[in-house]
Amino acid sequence: CGIVGYIGKRDVAPLLLEGLQRLEYRGYDSAGIAIQGKPAKGAQSAGLKTGKAKGRVRELEARLPKRFAGTTGIAHTRWATHGAPNDINAHPHLDADGKVAIVHNGIIDNAADLRAKLAADGVELVSDTDSEALAHLIGRSQAPTLEEKVRHALAMVEGTYGIAVLHADFPDRIVVARNGSPVVLGIGEKEMFVASDVAALVSHTRQVVTLDDGEMATLKADDYRTYTTEGSRTSTSPTTVEWEA
Ligand code: GLU
Repeated sequence: CGIVGYIGKRDVAPLLLEGLQRLEYRGYDSAGIAIQGKPAKGAQSAGLKTGKAKGRVRELEARLPKRFAGTTGIAHTRWATHGAPNDINAHPHLDADGKVAIVHNGIIDNAADLRAKLAADGVELVSDTDSEALAHLIGRSQAPTLEEKVRHALAMVEGTYGIAVLHADFPDRIVVARNGSPVVLGIGEKEMFVASDVAALVSHTRQVVTLDDGEMATLKADDYRTYTTEGSRTSTSPTTVEWEA
């Protein structure tokens, strides 16, 4: 239903919760958030931290630990299509190693098939969603870059998606993709936003890039690039969105 993401220097949890609140008008049944934990001095990564809850954003907020520090994260409001609205089926969904977190809008049509294949490979699926399969497919890809892992996974998927992906081993980026479900980038000063709806961005930046179907993007704090799901670069320059506050 709704996606928000941020990479930059600011404390990410309050930003994401505010973004989710701006998407509340669309309706949803559960919400969740994943962030890159703050690495200890000298360490490259601290791993992902997640929180999810059935119900309102307020309930998610109440459940997050007091110290949920980090400056990169993704968040979701869910409108259930596959699996009951509950805490476990709320997004983000993780892979088996807990290194990949994804939020997904849309419907994966061949989810039953993908889930059966993953299960046959010994993967334990913890939720009833169509979306979780995608997290495992990304986590199991042997490709060297996060972009290629996501591309590999999407090549196996039939259906619609707007997705945002975090990987503990690639803490400097968020990878997003669109096919039939809107994804908008918000371009800031040394910070980048992503959302499924400009309403979640406009309080921070009016400079936006709307992805096309079949397009992906990599967001870093001070840079972004867009490319097709086949990997060829696409040229996009931000447009200024008009918005009545
Ligand atoms: N199909 C996914 C699910 O049921 C995503 C639904 C949505 O767009 O919120 O979890």
